[in-house]
Amino acid sequence: MSDCLFCKIAQKEIPSKIVYEDAQIMAFADINPVAPVHILLIPKKHLLSVNDIMEEDEALIGRIFAAIKELARKLEIAESGYRVVTNTGTDGGQVVGHLHFHLIGGRALRAGLG
Ligand code: AMP
Ligand code: ZN
Repeated sequence: MSDCLFCKIAQKEIPSKIVYEDAQIMAFADINPVAPVHILLIPKKHLLSVNDIMEEDEALIGRIFAAIKELARKLEIAESGYRVVTNTGTDGGQVVGHLHFHLIGGRALRAGLG
């Protein structure tokens, strides 16, 4: 989508600190990290939110979680633990309208949600 921030990041029209990339997905550092490790993982294909995930996207989402697991290992938070968050829609606090998964770790996060 031409007017989407994360599509522009995926197409490298806007620079980002890329930590993983393949033909279908990209992982890059969050510009406003809330923890020592804060990575965003996106499908390169524009999907607005979890609500937009179709059956044909199941392998893509699986690939994102495989990358999350691998990045957690590489960034040495696999053992200490981490959180994966996907905000969806207004009440979910989604600000950027391109499906993304926050990988957050490197410090003890507060228990619970919301
Ligand atoms: P969300 O509230 O789930 O939509 O989160 C959007 C996230 O995108 C926030 O954590 C922002 O800090 C992050 N963000 C916004 N612009 C950029 C950017 N240009 N590069 C990297 N991260 C960004
Ligand atoms: Zn997009």
